[in-house]
Amino acid sequence: PLVLGIESSCDETGVGIVRGTALLTNTVASSMEEHVRFGGVIPEIASRAHLDAFVPTLRKALDEAGVTLADIDAIAVTSGPGLAGALMVGVCAAKALALATDKPLYAINHLVAHVGVGLLQSAGGAESGGTAAFTGALPGNLGALLVSGGHTEILRIRSITNDVELLGSTIDDAAGEAYDKVARLLGLGYPGGPAIDKLARTGNARAIRFPRGLTQPKYMGTAEEPGPHRYDWSFSGLKTAVARCVEQFEARGEDVPVADVAAAFQEAVVDVITSKAVLACRDHGITELLLGGGVAANSRLRQLTEQRCRASGIRLTVPPLPLCTDNGAMVAALGAQLVMAGVEPSGTGFAPDSSMPVTTVSA
Ligand code: ATP
Ligand code: MG
Ligand code: FE
Repeated sequence: PLVLGIESSCDETGVGIVRGTALLTNTVASSMEEHVRFGGVIPEIASRAHLDAFVPTLRKALDEAGVTLADIDAIAVTSGPGLAGALMVGVCAAKALALATDKPLYAINHLVAHVGVGLLQSAGGAESGGTAAFTGALPGNLGALLVSGGHTEILRIRSITNDVELLGSTIDDAAGEAYDKVARLLGLGYPGGPAIDKLARTGNARAIRFPRGLTQPKYMGTAEEPGPHRYDWSFSGLKTAVARCVEQFEARGEDVPVADVAAAFQEAVVDVITSKAVLACRDHGITELLLGGGVAANSRLRQLTEQRCRASGIRLTVPPLPLCTDNGAMVAALGAQLVMAGVEPSGTGFAPDSSMPVTTVSA
């Protein structure tokens, strides 16, 4: 089926078009630049930017794919989780298109779409930083590690259309959010992820030891008797530890070793993310893992995930980076899976749900 996907959950306006598992176009407009001076995404600005960007992005996507709205078999839209006002723009646009063209509409879970994108047979996986896609179908017991500005989660997917389980997640800040907050603290600007990633290469990650949240035995338990946060993360204590560390250098009148702090912070984040993700896979007999989300661009996260997966006999897949960050193609990809599985469309009666649970693949 030819499926049009719409994404507007955060600061990217995305329209993607797929035919089954073939990617025809992935068109994205980002309002990131407009948030820079605030040091983070401002929901009201993001919503207004979606309003401005939607129609031009849709036109461009249809042009690039060489199709018209009449050719489309189904429309898919992110209905959650995400920023309520931002989601509302995409959902209203999708409903309007569905009503005007009389096409079936699917309300899609953004997080599950980050996994569904792994099915797309897009050209240039390796060149654009990704590994090969899954061919034909996803493995029947797939782990997905999603790390972005809004989410840090480990999922188990037994069926992309109806069996998705949340194994663990952050209990406070998302990893990308922690990068952005620490970068601000170090005076590195927004978005903080790429800046810290780059600076960390010149620093000594062992110069300072920052805490790995929720790793004490009382939280971890054992595989047989898991503790309350065995597969969960917490990054707010780490952020505080970095702030204290910077204060101490300043109180002593010393220069802050910014590169060392960046490297040590990054090591703490990446170490605890990868160790818990691999643990969750091992405990659940998962031997295939997909890494997604904007922080998948992080060089150290990719390196350590690869290393630790290899050591545990887990095959790692990383979609090309433009498909890891928020985009419409992933929404279209999951929509196509739902159409092919014969899942009923959502109709136009649904509302966006900013905290849509990952167990709800489609509303
Ligand atoms: P969502 O959480 O809804 O998926 P988002 O817009 O918050 O959306 P993305 O667009 O997927 O997330 O990713 C943006 C985040 O990724 C920012 O927090 C940014 O700092 C982080 N990031 C980008 N590149 C890197 C990098 N090289 N290292 C670490 N973090 C990075
Ligand atoms: Mg974004
Ligand atoms: Fe996302």
